[in-house]
Amino acid sequence: MEYEPVIGLEVHAELETQSKMFCACPVVDTTQAAPNTAVCPVCAGMPGTLPVLNQKAVEYGLRVALALECQVAPVSIFARKNYFYPDLPKGYQISQYEQPLARNGRITILTAQGEKAIRIRRVHLEEDAGKLTHVEPVGVAQGGDKPRPYTLVDLNRAGVPLLEIVTEPDFHSGEDVRAYAEALRAILRYLGVNSGDMQKGVLRIEPNISLRTVATAGKQPAPLGTRVEIKNLNSFRALERAVAYQIQRQAELLEAGKAVQQVTLGWDEAKEVTVVQRVKEGEDDYRYFPEPDLPPLAVEAGWIALIRASLPELPYARFQRLREQYSLSDYTAKLLVEEKAVADYFEQAVTAEPSVPAKSISNWMGGELFGLMNQAGVDATGLRVQPEALAGLVKLVSQGQVNQDTARKVLAEMFASGKGADEIIKKRGLQQVSNAEAIAQMVKEVLVACPNEVASFLNGKAGVINFLFGQVMKKAQGKANPQVVRQELERQLAASKQ
Ligand SMILES: [Zn+2]
Repeated sequence: MEYEPVIGLEVHAELETQSKMFCACPVVDTTQAAPNTAVCPVCAGMPGTLPVLNQKAVEYGLRVALALECQVAPVSIFARKNYFYPDLPKGYQISQYEQPLARNGRITILTAQGEKAIRIRRVHLEEDAGKLTHVEPVGVAQGGDKPRPYTLVDLNRAGVPLLEIVTEPDFHSGEDVRAYAEALRAILRYLGVNSGDMQKGVLRIEPNISLRTVATAGKQPAPLGTRVEIKNLNSFRALERAVAYQIQRQAELLEAGKAVQQVTLGWDEAKEVTVVQRVKEGEDDYRYFPEPDLPPLAVEAGWIALIRASLPELPYARFQRLREQYSLSDYTAKLLVEEKAVADYFEQAVTAEPSVPAKSISNWMGGELFGLMNQAGVDATGLRVQPEALAGLVKLVSQGQVNQDTARKVLAEMFASGKGADEIIKKRGLQQVSNAEAIAQMVKEVLVACPNEVASFLNGKAGVINFLFGQVMKKAQGKANPQVVRQELERQLAASKQ
């Protein structure tokens, strides 16, 4: 049997507001802050406290909803999602259920098969839960007993604003799921509402996956199979692998005539397998009801218009514009728009030196500059090489004042010191030698010093010319113009044939 996977995604994105969703506690980096230092009676779930809605969180939620082309509900309702868990001090989570903030959006993703539109079902506001740390003590406790495992709770994250973004089941492969997650992350970062720092858990992805038999000619596709959900994936790699693993596993079950169970799974990163966390509860189990402590959230049309007007150019629009405006390949345009700071850097560099082809600048960025950034662990916002300085260097290369190899070394020094290309080139005497006489003299000396190689070249070993070329460049300390050297070498060798 042939099976087609059908996948939908839920993404939980923390909103980078100053304070929490319903109290004045600061939003802190939960991987850095001391546990339980950003907690008050409201987010600790003390009886008798009341939530107060954070306006900034609503604004951030609306930014995302509008960027995803959703219809914003004039009135949305907060609801209590009841479940008992140690990281949820109130015993319920405030979320939105029947009437979410926004619905019916779309996003365009770039895949190996081209562009695809993914439908967004809903976007709603809620609050995050705390964090549990399970401890397995080692050694022996007092009295000789084996120490018992225990769990610590940190409520710094409890009540942090969270946006849940749910797609329709529009995906059929792990690659597309990944492309969506990358595109969504880029949008959230462009909007300035989420750092995208997935290792810190600020962006968590939950795919739900089912399989159905592929439609054969003239037949309707089979109904959707039983779906499983994988919780809290926090890297693109884990997402892609977990989805691929589930597709494979469900296909094997169905092939063997067994049923897929509706369960909630976790991903074991080390073993690369999914593990059952719990048998999936239905929505009934949560006993949703409207939150009595918060009034309905009414969003004025004027506010929506203001937020819409303040949205930046988004990654996909920028991808299209850069591709057209600078005649870039899909690959290059995509590479440049992934980070807003990188795209800004590129456009500043192009503007600084209009005579230099934009493509040369993108090549230098994608190759050398990104390489240096990766090595040093620096992102585009922390670069010491200003865009104007990079453009200046690329200009010197295009004018033939330095060759590629030298320019690479100069860029490395600019990267480390923040100095300009001119200064480094002058100080270190790196100007390219294009002087024909000087090069002719060096070629002559090399040919005299290498009679055996010259002889084998003349006997038909054409490849030897590369060795001779290398010798001339060595003599010139790498500064000679390579085209001039090659031409002169060919000329003198041809002359010695006669
Ligand atoms: Zn608080």
